[in-house]
Amino acid sequence: MLIPTIQPPFPLSWGFTTRLDSPVGMPPVRLKQIHGCEVHAASNTIQAGDGLWTATPGEAIGVRVADCTPILLAGLAGHTPWVAALHAGWRGAVAGILRRGVALFQAQGGRPQDLTWALGPAIRQCHFEVGQEVVEAARKDPAWQEALASPGAKGKAWLDLHGLLRAQALDLGLDPAKDGSILRCTRCEPEVFFSFRNGDIEGRQWGWVRID
Ligand SMILES: [Zn+2]
Repeated sequence: MLIPTIQPPFPLSWGFTTRLDSPVGMPPVRLKQIHGCEVHAASNTIQAGDGLWTATPGEAIGVRVADCTPILLAGLAGHTPWVAALHAGWRGAVAGILRRGVALFQAQGGRPQDLTWALGPAIRQCHFEVGQEVVEAARKDPAWQEALASPGAKGKAWLDLHGLLRAQALDLGLDPAKDGSILRCTRCEPEVFFSFRNGDIEGRQWGWVRID
C-alpha cells in the first residue's frame, strides 16, 4: 500500500492499495460509483455517488478505482478531524467533485488551506488518450490550462487528469505544501496496479481513510 507523503495533524490511517495488497481489511463498500460529483456523509447503506466524508473516528471510507484518480482529503474542521475519499475520472473532475468535497469541509467549519490532500495512482498523460469532446468539456473548467492536453493522433489528445485535479486544488485554495500525492501511472505499471484500459475489468484498488 502507498501512503500519502504528508500527514495531517491528527491520527489517521490512509493510503492507496495496489494489486499486491489483500482486500482483507478494506472498508465496506458504501458507494455505487457513477462518475458523477455527489459526495455523501458516510452511512451504513450503499449510496449512489462518487465520494464519502466522515468525522467519525473508526469509520473507514474509500473509493475503488482502476485508472480513475482516487483523492484523499484530511483536515481539522475547527477542532474536529474530518476526512473524505473521492473518485475522479475525467467526468467527475469536470463535474467538480473536488470542489464539492472541499465545500463540504468548509460547511463543517474547515478552511481549504488546512486540508492535507493526496491524489493517488491513476492513468497519466502518457497513456490517457481522449477524444476532443473530453478536452472541450475540461476546457470549461475555471482551473483549465492549455498545457493539460497535448495533441495526439487522429484528432485525439493526451489529457493530464492529475494535472487538472491539481490545478483545481490550487484554485480552491488548497496548500501545495500539504500535497501528499503519489503520481504514478496505473497503465505504466501493470504488475503493480489494476488498469481498466489494460484489461482489468473487475480488479480495483482502494483509496481509503479512517480517523483513528
Ligand atoms: Zn502511463
